[in-house]
Amino acid sequence: MGRMLIVSRADQLDAYKQLAEEYSVGFEINDFFAPEVLDDEDKVNFIIKQYENVGVPEGSTMHGAFYDVVIFSEDEKIRAIAKQRMEQSLSIAERLHVRAVIFHTNITPMLSGEVYNQSVIDKTCSYLEELLRSHPDVDIYMENMFDADPDILVQISKKLFDSYSNFGICLDYAHASISPTPISKWIKALFPYVKHIHINDNDLQRDLHWALGDGQIDWELFGYYYAKYLSQCSLLIETTEIDRQRKSLNYLREQVFCKNEELLAENMLEQIFHYMTQLADEKGFTATIRLLTDMGRTLVNSERASFWYWDKKQQQYWTLAALGSGKIVVPEGAGIVGASIVNNEIIRIDDPYQDKRFNPEVDKETGYVTKSILCMPVTNTQGNVIGAYQAINKLGKESAFTERDVKRLTLAAIYCGKTLESHMLYHEAQVDQLTGLKNRRGFYEYYSDVVEPQLRRGASAIMCDIDFFKKVNDVYGHNAGDAVLVHVSDILVDMLKGRGEAIRWGGEEFVLLLPELKEEEAAKLAEDIRSRVEASVCVYEDIDIHITMSFGVRGLEEEKNADANIEAVDMRLYKAKTTGRNKVVAADE
Ligand code: GH3
Ligand code: MG
Ligand code: MG
Repeated sequence: MGRMLIVSRADQLDAYKQLAEEYSVGFEINDFFAPEVLDDEDKVNFIIKQYENVGVPEGSTMHGAFYDVVIFSEDEKIRAIAKQRMEQSLSIAERLHVRAVIFHTNITPMLSGEVYNQSVIDKTCSYLEELLRSHPDVDIYMENMFDADPDILVQISKKLFDSYSNFGICLDYAHASISPTPISKWIKALFPYVKHIHINDNDLQRDLHWALGDGQIDWELFGYYYAKYLSQCSLLIETTEIDRQRKSLNYLREQVFCKNEELLAENMLEQIFHYMTQLADEKGFTATIRLLTDMGRTLVNSERASFWYWDKKQQQYWTLAALGSGKIVVPEGAGIVGASIVNNEIIRIDDPYQDKRFNPEVDKETGYVTKSILCMPVTNTQGNVIGAYQAINKLGKESAFTERDVKRLTLAAIYCGKTLESHMLYHEAQVDQLTGLKNRRGFYEYYSDVVEPQLRRGASAIMCDIDFFKKVNDVYGHNAGDAVLVHVSDILVDMLKGRGEAIRWGGEEFVLLLPELKEEEAAKLAEDIRSRVEASVCVYEDIDIHITMSFGVRGLEEEKNADANIEAVDMRLYKAKTTGRNKVVAADE
């Protein structure tokens, strides 16, 4: 199964993003086909920024310019404009880092004849060659629009497909369905060149972009062709309304692809390779877990899948990736997931409503019907359970999970476990165990991710140290000292109010990174913390412990690296320590 995409537009980007995450699909960006946008630099920048903010899903594509974009025109001036539009589209696509841009052939079938066709093919190919060479990182897919038959696209593909790995065909299945040529001919002629497919429903007469299942197109037949000839092609649901997209995604899952029963061994390998190559490119933790979860769902052919993280601190389980439903949180030990985690066992159920471990309340609320469940604990390298993988509702005739599904899901579960474990270790390594604050390792990541981009606008740091802390240890013992460290950390976090990050720099020394505060504001904050610490009492085993702290404050300089900046703040802390303690030094005399 190739990547599935939905149309996205910047004006409702949050809604599209939500749907995309829910169904683990990407975008075909539809904001850049009109001349008024392409010629408006501010608008282009603004829309790109919006996409950068929400993040363009991996494998996404973009629809290129299409109004009157006729690169084979006999009119040189029209050709020049058409070229400009395609060039503009590609440069935007490069900035968005999408995989491919789709352009229509825009041929006029009424004019079809030997001379016209040849001229179309030659001129289109010669300009496409220029583009394919000058934009090697973006694929260019040519799409049938008004084409009455696949012939011109076949000729173009024959000239370009073998020489340019970034060339391909986008088969618009809806356009092809309303052409005078039978769909079987389109498929047989084009399948070697097709990399991407547009689908939507219509009345077999006009291009209506309805939701799948709302029109006359035979989607069972499409499912057959897809599985047989096009199974690696990405698939765009080409309808703009969110409702229609959701309906189509459900329709595909429940009515079209479920008919393909079990994956054959050969397809299975293809699927695994497909996911593995995507995984190799994916660096984000959430996206990786999503891909793995989706891989598991595909391998066992289930309707829903979720990967559960066991949050031992909060004593609950929550979904890291839930395909087909939102994030869910349940208390430790609850439900099928709880049974699977607590007993470290694989659970397979065909009739959940008869099973005492199953909680039917969620289904009652949502109207969802759970028919079968396969739940599997996920372990770390030491063999300790750290989460669970759950597949729900086996699709196809059998409707129950088999031993074979258990084996197949194990593959995804193992990789989910490894990914989760390395993610947890990575985070643990950045956090100080006693106080829960970031440690020095965490400092550097926060500094480069959050503070550095802010340096131009002014950012500051506070460095502080407990006065005569050694005495606390000497007089009350090491455990009391630990309690004081926790006490101080809590005050620091509370006073920050989310405006930065507190780091345990070492022993009883802390750094506060304040990306949004100027030096004077930071100095004020330091003074507020100082007086609060002075007034506070740390109660340890009925003993009241009073402490004070000394502070150095300084604005961070763009020219200095993290270490040099911290050293400069440290000089001021040193000054505070050597000139009386329990004070804030925010300037060099
Ligand atoms: P000053 O006012 O000059 O900062 O004096 P001080 O006593 O606070 O500083 P000094 O550096 O002499 O002593 C710091 C002490 O902090 C020594 C060390 O044993 C103790 N310490 C470091 N880490 C921990 C910890 O995690 N827990 C406890 N209880 N003590 C710690
Ligand atoms: Mg289309
Ligand atoms: Mg100290």
